[in-house]
Amino acid sequence: MANRYPRLVINLNHLRHNAHQVVDTCAARGISVAGVIKGAAGMVPVAQAMADGGCQFLASSRMEQLAGVKAAGITTPLLMLRVPMLSEVDELVQVAEYSLNSDITVLRALNKAAGEAGKVHHVIIMADLGDLREGFWDKDEMVDVCAEVEEHMDNLDLAGVGVNVGCYGSVVATPEKLQELVDVARRVEERIGRKLDIVSGGASSSYMRVLDGNIPEGITNLRIGEEILLPQDLLYLYGYPLNGMYDDVFTLESQVIEVRDKPSYPVGELGVDAFGHKPVYIDKGIRRKVLLAMGHLDYCDYKDLIPQDKDVEILGCSSDHTIMDVTDAPRTYHVGDIVKFNLIYGTNLFLCHSQNVQKVFIDEE
Ligand SMILES: *Cc1c(COP(=O)(O)O)cnc(C)c1O
Repeated sequence: MANRYPRLVINLNHLRHNAHQVVDTCAARGISVAGVIKGAAGMVPVAQAMADGGCQFLASSRMEQLAGVKAAGITTPLLMLRVPMLSEVDELVQVAEYSLNSDITVLRALNKAAGEAGKVHHVIIMADLGDLREGFWDKDEMVDVCAEVEEHMDNLDLAGVGVNVGCYGSVVATPEKLQELVDVARRVEERIGRKLDIVSGGASSSYMRVLDGNIPEGITNLRIGEEILLPQDLLYLYGYPLNGMYDDVFTLESQVIEVRDKPSYPVGELGVDAFGHKPVYIDKGIRRKVLLAMGHLDYCDYKDLIPQDKDVEILGCSSDHTIMDVTDAPRTYHVGDIVKFNLIYGTNLFLCHSQNVQKVFIDEE
């Protein structure tokens, strides 16, 4: 097992630091944080680091990840992010204390399952405010359902309401959009005659409003994965500076298996590549090429890899190989060398899930 490549090095110290900073920044605005572990395939040490970093909840869209966290003995309350399947309500009440919900049939089944298990399960009812994934579109219906949970579902606690934006419809979490959720929350509170504990205003994309200082009063919770795991994404995508956050929680290490001068244009009659595509090749003459022992299977899209080495170009990949042009690089490459990459969310998601990628946890400054 030792020194297998490719490998993903995960710095738990930097992860804890990032969680702490997000939790503190949110706490200053009266906002609790559910640390979202799905971007790291629910790995237990990642969940533990988020809990140690102060996250008040741990969350995932996948039941088996939450079950793994619970089985590891972590006692932070667990939140199921994907609205539950009817077939998983019995398991859900055993595994998680909280879930996001958007369907009355499921809520009734959940109420029954919680009763049978002798538990009270906390639900957050989702509003669809335009991103067009989960949630009630008709807000009158949503208020009615909240009232039904409150008044008639003895084994459910109406913990609050929530929204998700920026996932399907690419809708931006503007202050106005988040205010719509607060308005829905106020309508529900008026109807049931008490305050809601949780008004959950979205994911990392809503955290930008915390950084801007214009998140509406009344948002009391966010569900944050990306910003804790890979805060560089907000830098690359929106220009938010790292501001003390670590961009190297995850580092990909791969090994060189060939270094050779070769033509840049393929030689022979051209058909299609490994994936049935017809790429465009540019003839730059003879170039110094490095072959790495990792490929599409491990990280999905080579265009999303960010080499730490200067002046190298990733030319392409097949399932198990990656080809780089290093002609202009200051570094001299040899077979057996290790080449490192920084990551973004999508790439990291694949790497975390790949059985071929060894995960190595470090706990270093
Ligand atoms: C994935 C997910 C989140 C967290 O998203 P990040 O971009 O990683 O912060 C929050 N809420 C729901 C419903 C999700 O599915």
